[in-house]
Parts: sequence; structure tokens; C-alpha cells
Amino acid sequence: MSNMSTPILKLDGVSTNYQTLRGWVRATENVSFEIARGEAMGLVGESGCGKTTIALSILKILPPGAKIRKGKILFDGADIVPFSDSKMRKEIRWKGISIIFQGAMNAMNPVFKVGDQIIEAIRLHEPDVSKEEALKRTEALLEMVGVEPSRVSNYPHEFSGGMRQRALIAMALACNPKLLIADEPGTALDVIVQAQVLQLMRDLKEKLGLSMMMISHDLSIVAEVCEKLAIMYAGNVAEYGDVESVFKEPLHPYTQGLIKAFPTIKGERQKLVSIPGQPPDLLNPPTGCKFHPRCPYAMDICKKENPQLKKQGPGEHYVACHLY
Ligand code: SF4
Repeated sequence: MSNMSTPILKLDGVSTNYQTLRGWVRATENVSFEIARGEAMGLVGESGCGKTTIALSILKILPPGAKIRKGKILFDGADIVPFSDSKMRKEIRWKGISIIFQGAMNAMNPVFKVGDQIIEAIRLHEPDVSKEEALKRTEALLEMVGVEPSRVSNYPHEFSGGMRQRALIAMALACNPKLLIADEPGTALDVIVQAQVLQLMRDLKEKLGLSMMMISHDLSIVAEVCEKLAIMYAGNVAEYGDVESVFKEPLHPYTQGLIKAFPTIKGERQKLVSIPGQPPDLLNPPTGCKFHPRCPYAMDICKKENPQLKKQGPGEHYVACHLY
């Protein structure tokens, strides 16, 4: 049974693997974190670190050949890993957890009016809702995301990039989900429009008490909206905690490198200092800590033992590194 103190989402040791011709790829390994009600968590890391696999695992929409091999995904207190596809469709997707995919700017069907696409989404998941009622809800949703309700009858090409992103947020909220997952929100937009979209996400979180998981390669974007951060490297959570602690005192050498790459939360983005080396091949990952070939502090033990996430300091701050 869930209650208000039950996290809306809790991952407990989730390992998702992909089967390829060359063998199993461990896309995520033993991933654990939780998101409280009304809280936003940023999942950050380079591309291929497993962050999108986490989102696909949570919604159980993994591609063929991919499998959650271990662990629990507790949504509102219930483990959804054993849920059938039809149970996921009826109870979880859209109504419980909704997602805005990366590159969603082109996700709207160009031949249908924006309003009709949102109405369709509502009626598909709530068949009892009449067309009139769905239209009213669509207009209210558009207004909530800052789009003039009269634009319901426009086609996607009549919307600017920013408006399309807003309409997609409205669509994701069509069935009142408890958790919204946004994969690289607004990355295709210019900086000013992106800032407006992030402001909208902050407002919605406040207004609706929405819980969010925001996926990005850019720490400064998630820090604008999220209270908590999980930093992923090569399928593992390297560091996890409150945004202030992780920013003020990054403990993992990888997080330290990421912060140097995106040094300010609010100000101008400085010259990008990249972390030397490449993320590892997950088919054949390095032994021990997967970051050791790139880590300036690597010790002997780092090549042998994969460090586990351990609590550091008095606040909510965890790190997986042998330095601690
Ligand atoms: Fe670097 Fe070792 Fe820490 Fe890995 S465990 S990040 S190699 S110091």
C-alpha cells in the first residue's frame, strides 16, 4: 500500500541488458535511486551511459532483445517489473507515467491538427470521455502550458518550435500522470526558448505537484529544474544526491569533470572542458571501476573492484568511488 511518504518512483538494483550478435550489453547495472512525490530528479551523463535505457525500462517499452534482468521498479509502491504489457498500457503509461521523448519536436503528426492529437490521446486512454469534454480539457491544457487555446485547430507546422514543445508537454499531461519523464527537453531549441520551456516545467511542477525525471547530458539544464541529481557513467550511478550538495561538493571524479564542462548553472556557458578519453564499450567494459581508464585518481583497487554507492556526509549524498 502506498501513502504520501512512499516515493513515487524507486529503482532498486535495476540491470537492463541488450542482446546483440556480439553478446549481452550491460546497458544499466544495479541502478538504484528514488524520486519523492512532487520532486524532480535529473538523470545526467554522456550519451550511451544508460539514461534513456532507464526511461524505457521504467515504461517497459524496451526494444526487442532488451530485458530487465534484475531489480525492482516500484511505481507508487508497486513493483511494475512483472506487469504484463496490457496492464502497463491500462494502468501505468499515460495515466501513471508519461514521457516526452528526445527529439520530440517532430513527434506530432503533421497531417492532424494539434488539438485533435491531444483529444485523441485523451480518448484513447479514457474511452468514457466525450469529444466535447476532451476538447475542453485540451483547451485548458494548452492554456496551462502557455499556448492560446484557440490554437487547437492549428496544424503543427503553424506552431513555432517552442510552441510545439509546449503542446507536447500538454499532450504528455493529458491523462494527469503522477510522473513525467522528459528526455533532453528543449535541446533543439535556442537558448532563450529553452529557458522559457524550463521555466514552464518549474511552474507545472509547482502548480500540479508533479514529480519529474529529467534526462540530459547537460548538468546546467537539469539543475534549473531539479532538486536531486543522479549522475550515470557507463550504466552505473556514479553519484546521487541533492542538487546543492552535488554541485557544491562533487565527489566523484566524473562529476567533477562534468561540472567543469558545464561550469555555471545560470550564467553564460563557458568554454567546454571535455573529460579526456571515451566512454567504454559496454560489450567489453573495463574491469573494476568503469571510469578508471579516464580517472586522474585511479588506484590499484580501481582496476579490480567496482565501487558501490555509499552515503557520504550528513545530507542526501551518495557516491560510488574508492576514494571515499
Ligand atoms: Fe577514479 Fe577509482 Fe574513484 Fe573510479 S573508483 S572514480 S577510478 S578513484
